Amino acid sequence: MLKKVDFLIVGSGIAGLTFAINSAQYGQILILTKKNRADSNTNYAQGGIASVFSDADSFDCHINDTIKAGEGLSHQNAVKIMVENGPKLVSKLYDKGCRFTLDDQGNFALGKEGGHSQRRIVHAKDYTGYEIEHVLLEEVKRKNVIISENEIALDLIIIDGECLGLYFFDANKQKIDYILANATVLATGGTGQIYLHTTNPPIATGDGIAMAFRAGARVANMEFVQFHPTSVYNIQTDGRAFLISEALRGEGGILKTKNGKPFMDKYDPAGNLAPRDIVARACVSEMYATKSKYVLLDISHVNAGYLKNRFPTIYETCMKWGIDMTREPIPVVPAAHYTCGGILVNTWAESSINRLFALGECSCTGVHGANRLASNSLLEALVFSTRASERAKKIKSIRTKTRIPVKQTAQSGPDYRLQIKEIMDQYLGVIRTVKGLEIAHESISDFCSKYDDGIYLKNAEARNVADIAMLIVKSAIMRTESRGLHYIREYPKKKREFSKDTVISRKES
Ligand SMILES: Cc1cc2nc3c(=O)[nH]c(=O)nc-3n(C[C@H](O)[C@H](O)[C@H](O)COP(=O)(O)OP(=O)(O)OC[C@H]3O[C@@H](n4cnc5c(N)ncnc54)[C@H](O)[C@@H]3O)c2cc1C
Repeated sequence: MLKKVDFLIVGSGIAGLTFAINSAQYGQILILTKKNRADSNTNYAQGGIASVFSDADSFDCHINDTIKAGEGLSHQNAVKIMVENGPKLVSKLYDKGCRFTLDDQGNFALGKEGGHSQRRIVHAKDYTGYEIEHVLLEEVKRKNVIISENEIALDLIIIDGECLGLYFFDANKQKIDYILANATVLATGGTGQIYLHTTNPPIATGDGIAMAFRAGARVANMEFVQFHPTSVYNIQTDGRAFLISEALRGEGGILKTKNGKPFMDKYDPAGNLAPRDIVARACVSEMYATKSKYVLLDISHVNAGYLKNRFPTIYETCMKWGIDMTREPIPVVPAAHYTCGGILVNTWAESSINRLFALGECSCTGVHGANRLASNSLLEALVFSTRASERAKKIKSIRTKTRIPVKQTAQSGPDYRLQIKEIMDQYLGVIRTVKGLEIAHESISDFCSKYDDGIYLKNAEARNVADIAMLIVKSAIMRTESRGLHYIREYPKKKREFSKDTVISRKES
């Protein structure tokens, strides 16, 4: 294993790979990834990537939709940068070989999703993420970037306020080692796995955010956890709930109670295509009202041939479980899906620690504010990872004679993952209460207090799960209002004094 590189990237999803491709010309790169290279949230993205391509659409329109969903917290400059760079970078993905679905004229076939006032979702049927992930992996290979699989980053090396690399668990040697870098880039994805019910794969334990927080970085808006309204009820594969893309509602899918009554028009003028926070809360309210553990998503009125061609993965996966969506509704429930908050960065993906960058879902660029607009996350990762490489290329070399502090290591830390997931599902879901937050805070503080400052050979993710849960609970308690994805029953309204990010750092807290 190399001891020093120019750019050390943690994560091989859209964010890490995009940064690697753009930076390969500027120096030596190493990507650490904790499982197989394609194991990522990116690989499972279905719906698509939002961008302005239609004549009926405009940058202003995409900007306004994003800001509206963000409920007053979106950073306007970041949103503008993301939207305006979209068409160029999405077209580049197509040129690299992503087989996005085209219409009869050979233009991108644009899908529609909740909160978007225009058709602007570029997609490869219902497996957009798989297509992007594999095309980027091929390009990284062509650029001779080294990807080291089954290596788990554990903690950052911080000396004199700068990040000089990280400690990781070397799976081959079964020991902890370190690598130094001029720039360390966290692209570790989301935190869905701190909940029992999530659409995220097992890699999504929030490692990057937890590491950065422990190192002293500023972390923002962790209370805004997006629950996708429609994951298949009661079926999990490989530790994740199967998602039914919002695009299905974009093509006419209707949410109904278990008794077959459509309900979304009661909750929002946009009906089934209202923003996700509204739809998820509506689903939970209807589940309570009908004493049911699920609601129904019905698209059986749409032409069967069209559905099979447009949603092949969803159709085939549901069929495996005996659900024929061309004939009957799919039972669905909300599940933890996307982390709007993360490591606070500027529009060049620089964190509050020198030489430390954060990209993609583990970062908080401020674009999503209090609620992410569907299909904006792949776009955010693509745009800001491209910009980050422009900044990282200017970074000066670190001194190689740096003495690395020896970290105390233990074989294994305690593992409270299951208990924490249960607490998170119960008290930090779609609808929160003051009492529930207090109970969660007490229990999770107790779990966190069991960890010391060392690093663990095994169960490293368990400590990250505890740290992330703590960040979410603390942020949720700090925001005594309801806004976007954060809804507290006792404070159902937005308050003007909370029109700002919730920022937490070790120093500040
Ligand atoms: C089911 C599903 C459907 C979605 N659909 C859409 C959609 O249609 N449109 C959209 O815009 N967004 C969608 N999203 C969200 C989007 O896919 C993600 O936000 C985006 O892919 C995140 O990319 P990323 O590169 O930041 O992280 P990821 O793609 O999750 O990659 C994270 C990487 O970091 C690695 N890693 C993590 N921790 C460590 C560690 N400690 N050490 C080493 N490696 C580590 C992982 O192994 C992985 O390689 C969806 C998400 C899911 C789960």
